[in-house]
Amino acid sequence: MSEKHVYFFGAGKADGKAEMKRLLGGKGANLAEMTNLGIPVPPGFTITTDVCRNYYNNNKTYPEDLDGQIRENIAKVEEIMGMKFGDREDPLLFSVRSGAAMSMPGMMETILNVGLNDETVEGMAKKAGNRRFAYDSYRRLIQMFSDVAMGVDIEFFEDALAEKKKEKGVELDTELDADDLKELIATYKEIYKREIGEEFPQDPMKQLLTARDAVFGSRDAERAIIYRRINGISDDQGSTAVNVQTMVFGNMGDDSGTGVAFTRNPATGENKFFADYLFNAQGEDVVAGIRTPIHVEELGKQMPDVYNQLREIEQSLEDHYKDMQDIEFTVQQGKLWMLQTRRGKRTAMADVRIAVEMVKEGVIDKETAVSRVPAEKIEQLLFPMIDSKADVKIIGKGLPAGPGAAVGKAVFTAERAEEMAKEGEKVILVRNFTSPEDVGGMHASQGILTATGGMTSHAAIVGRDMGKCCVVGCGDIAVDAVGKKFTAGDVVVKEGDLISLDGHVGNVMLGAAPMVEPSMSGDFGTLIEWVDEIRTLGVKTNTDTPAGARRARAFGAEGIGLCRTEHMFFEEDRITSMREMIVADDEEGRRKALEKLLPMQRKDFIEIFEAMESLPVIIRTLDPPLHEFLPHTEEDMAELAKEIGVDLAKLKSKIDSLHEANPMLGHRGCRLGVSYPEITEMQARAIMEAAVDVAKRGIKVIPEVMIPLVGQARELELQRAIVDRVAKEVMEEAGLEVEYMVGTMIELPRAALTADEIAEHAQFFSFGTNDLTQTTFGMSRDDAEGKFLQEYVESGILEGNPFMSIDEKGVGVLIEIAVEKGRKTNPELEVGICGEHGGDPKSVDFCYRAGLDYVSCSPFRVPVARLAAAHAKLRSEGKME
Ligand code: PEP
Ligand code: MG
Repeated sequence: MSEKHVYFFGAGKADGKAEMKRLLGGKGANLAEMTNLGIPVPPGFTITTDVCRNYYNNNKTYPEDLDGQIRENIAKVEEIMGMKFGDREDPLLFSVRSGAAMSMPGMMETILNVGLNDETVEGMAKKAGNRRFAYDSYRRLIQMFSDVAMGVDIEFFEDALAEKKKEKGVELDTELDADDLKELIATYKEIYKREIGEEFPQDPMKQLLTARDAVFGSRDAERAIIYRRINGISDDQGSTAVNVQTMVFGNMGDDSGTGVAFTRNPATGENKFFADYLFNAQGEDVVAGIRTPIHVEELGKQMPDVYNQLREIEQSLEDHYKDMQDIEFTVQQGKLWMLQTRRGKRTAMADVRIAVEMVKEGVIDKETAVSRVPAEKIEQLLFPMIDSKADVKIIGKGLPAGPGAAVGKAVFTAERAEEMAKEGEKVILVRNFTSPEDVGGMHASQGILTATGGMTSHAAIVGRDMGKCCVVGCGDIAVDAVGKKFTAGDVVVKEGDLISLDGHVGNVMLGAAPMVEPSMSGDFGTLIEWVDEIRTLGVKTNTDTPAGARRARAFGAEGIGLCRTEHMFFEEDRITSMREMIVADDEEGRRKALEKLLPMQRKDFIEIFEAMESLPVIIRTLDPPLHEFLPHTEEDMAELAKEIGVDLAKLKSKIDSLHEANPMLGHRGCRLGVSYPEITEMQARAIMEAAVDVAKRGIKVIPEVMIPLVGQARELELQRAIVDRVAKEVMEEAGLEVEYMVGTMIELPRAALTADEIAEHAQFFSFGTNDLTQTTFGMSRDDAEGKFLQEYVESGILEGNPFMSIDEKGVGVLIEIAVEKGRKTNPELEVGICGEHGGDPKSVDFCYRAGLDYVSCSPFRVPVARLAAAHAKLRSEGKME
């Protein structure tokens, strides 16, 4: 039997089902599922995503039997509908749409009204008793077909339409009558012929097959590729199906219309049906956001039966999928048709609220709720929000498409947004409405403001998905993109003027509105409790300030995994003593300067220990190359020479002598402590004296000293001896015992490979994956990203940026070796990670699989890492994809 390339759905029965997303794409699989549920879905068929994959793998060709299967399925639809494709009297028309396994709103292609030509349009006009409607549909087909399938510039058609309106002295498309549209069709066909060199195809089958080619071809259109890159979707996941479906019309008069709905509010998560509806309009009009839709309650007043049926269906869909759904529907002359259902995209706030409420409603369990909230997105909930008590100048109010708040300079084109963002400016993109071409600029902006469109418009959907603050449908503003300004009442906002958006309430404000810190209470607090019940991997934080420690603790950090002491030396009052220590000629000189630094360090540690009461604090000894602390300009050097009483020429020559060609691989980390043991000694003393001081006041303190950049066991052995000696001295002086640990960073391949030897001297390991990635790849962590890394990722040499997500095949294997070898000689060894990867969900998953005890990340990433740790556990149990 030949392979099945085409899956049918219609009249209550479908070949496919919801689980077949990879093969049928999200849209196709859900159309099949809805059909099987007995929901009214216009019949049609789905050409599989495998056909798309093979199309690209086989030089853009199709299986031989594909066209035959398409014809068979058209015949099935014809039978159900009692109409014929290409029939002169009562023609059956199709929509042809893309639909990949991963939903990519607005990213791919649609052609409507396929099957209309000079003859069938007359039949349709007669049958519908509405010439205007038929000609308008034909006009739209020519335009969409030319644009999407043939690449003709859409401007030609828009100009012709504008010209016709001018000629007739009207403003709106709807004011053009049937004869006007008929004339316009002739013009459109001329444009087609002029641009393509042949007549607009009259054969319905040719139209359909060409539309199919266009949809498959759109997978590799530039904007689709950009979208996939931004969202980390592979070409395979982005391969699309083609859905060919009977056309139903929302533009057949006032008893027709079209809408997009969410079963719950996608911005806040509130359990309230939420729909945008346009009377007498075609599907794309709502999503494009060109007209601002009405609330669905209006439909309820005017067509209560349709409204009640819609409510029943949306409820049954949510019950069936046990998740919030995003649905599209059309009403044709009083009859409701469902065109799509899919998991509704939503803000992080809505994600959390819906998940928590569905547990309370008994729809899903806690584990499912936790698995539904994407770890990456919840960082949004931790960002500051507009202070509701602040005195702000509100200049407009739109729909709160969410999430959060944004402050930035107004810009009016996507290109300008990208340009200014590249220069480091924070911008807000202001448009009448957005389209897929704007995606790059939306990504570069802090927030998005549109004058038209509803909660389901392109701007709202894509903005929410990107986690961008978004206010849409703000009718109070008039955007003049060419003049680079918008007006709101008597306020004029020009490019570069600061504005603020509040995505929770929809306010647009002049200037930079004050913000308040968020809190982890309410639904978020509930969810995170469930997260902690599930996860077994610990989460600590990287911070070197008491404020950071307090914040991280509030976010649930279970200790400090990395306190970088070098950051503490850069402060004004300390840098001179530090410099004095570095340029000293001998040990005595260094000790003199270190004496001055000791009390400052001790004070820092006391405050951090207090903030982290009862939780472990890992303090790392000095790491960066010494010359980083030295002055660079002539003026600064002269000033330092004077301050510390050293001859300028001598100082300069000392600075020269410290210069290294490759400082990242130079005199840094434990190598400094080996050369100048008195530095380690001072730091160990500051840590221990602080610990004793705090402990004496009854505050529980758990100090841990970490030695960086160890490559040989002997380095650690030497440094540990110093720490142990000083600790003993300090405790004896104080007459108080404090338990402490000494461990090391594993951040060089040699350390990983000799971890068994190193573990004999270490009580804990912490993977410094920033340096470990740098040294494993032999790529500078400071330079690679700006130079060639992007190119490597785009060309597929690298799967992703290894400084963001752990390279499991290389760096990951070194980690696994180190864990195994380290625990072999020291079964008690505690193992964690403190490189940037500790806050990256994918890397957290790896850390869990590699058997680490904890991850450590920056304070704002702590909740992300907690959730990612729970996800890792659920995944390992097969409870999450
Ligand atoms: C690391 O190398 O991963 C690390 C945490 O240390 P630093 O970034 O300070 O070099
Ligand atoms: Mg490091």
